[in-house]
Amino acid sequence: MNKPSLETVGVRYTGWAALNRDPLEDHVEYTCPHCGARGAKSARRPRSAYHFSDGFVQDLQGEATTCRNCKQSFRVSPVVMLHDQDEKRRFKAVFSADLEVSSN
Ligand SMILES: [Zn+2]
Repeated sequence: MNKPSLETVGVRYTGWAALNRDPLEDHVEYTCPHCGARGAKSARRPRSAYHFSDGFVQDLQGEATTCRNCKQSFRVSPVVMLHDQDEKRRFKAVFSADLEVSSN
């Protein structure tokens, strides 16, 4: 695998997990691995690109983006699709190590 140098986990909320959001907004949320700023981008990849893996529906290919804060590019990968509170909790438990590192 030819991996880009910096990657961060993205989250795409759907269904119940997105109830408090505008239904027209379909965003991938992430934390910049360069500066730690939180960001969001429009989800570009179709839902058919997401597959069940490691207990979650994920897009392992991910999407490239640029941080609005530090202007550096990186890859959001994997993008994990969460559809309810239960999955949110499970996601946080599984990915908490990654999220804590990048929340500095
Ligand atoms: Zn940044």
